[in-house]
Amino acid sequence: PSITRGITVEIPKVSWDDIGGLKDLKKKLQQAVEWPIKYPVAFLRMGIAPIRGVLLHGPPGCSKTTLAKAVANATQASFFSLSGAELYSMYVGEGEALLRNTFRRARLTAPSIIFFDEADAVAGKRGGKSSGNISVGERLLSTLLTEMDGLEQAKGILVLAATNRPRAIDAALLRPGRFDLVLYVPPPDTESRYEILHVHTRKMKIASDVDLIKLAEDTELFTGAELEGLCREAGIVALREDIHATSVHDRHFQAVRRSLKPALTKAEID
Ligand code: ATP
Repeated sequence: PSITRGITVEIPKVSWDDIGGLKDLKKKLQQAVEWPIKYPVAFLRMGIAPIRGVLLHGPPGCSKTTLAKAVANATQASFFSLSGAELYSMYVGEGEALLRNTFRRARLTAPSIIFFDEADAVAGKRGGKSSGNISVGERLLSTLLTEMDGLEQAKGILVLAATNRPRAIDAALLRPGRFDLVLYVPPPDTESRYEILHVHTRKMKIASDVDLIKLAEDTELFTGAELEGLCREAGIVALREDIHATSVHDRHFQAVRRSLKPALTKAEID
């Protein structure tokens, strides 16, 4: 962690290789986000405005947070994380103060990435819980808009927001100069599931009877988070069987696979 005037900032250790699948999406993020942060002067010279905000949407557990961290790592940017739901639940005024403070700190330690999880809680369409005439959501939204509009060009600050409910996002945030790029992060297909299983078994001792291709085919609708859980659980099952075990076998993966049901349903996938 680097320290700037009393602020401790972490650059996440997640790299692009830790994310299985999503090849095109990674490329889009690299071009839209890495370049302006890495080469701000080139953008300035060409008179191109860098993207200030990216909205990632898609079902839970499919790597939106992990992607944001990989972007921060690739650009060596300080990473700030905010939860829309948390801001929303704070006392009147506290959420706005935290929001403003986060942008202030991000400016001090730029290049910075501000990751905004559950963005719909704050950036949702107008209306909702109210304090006086203006609702809590509206005050937070207007603070966010002010902060985003105030971001000076080419200063290396990017806001990455994530939501499971893109339709709930207020249209004001999708205007040019705000969230210019909207990307869908889909649940993994068979090939991506194989890559995710590969990522999460990399450091495990797995026996030669484990067939990750077959396991990928057999885990339709599983999210990255669920596949990660499956691998960990298989290791635990192996240890439970024999605390001196040296590797995880196919039967352990199968036992866990049989006990799990994916949370996503076909109908939920756009
Ligand atoms: P939420 O909407 O619930 O915040 P999310 O989309 O942000 O979910 P993450 O928090 O990034 O999802 O992912 C949860 C976990 O699942 C991570 O710890 C990550 O290791 C794993 N995971 C998800 N997708 C992938 C992937 N494509 N490759 C490797 N690991 C993945």
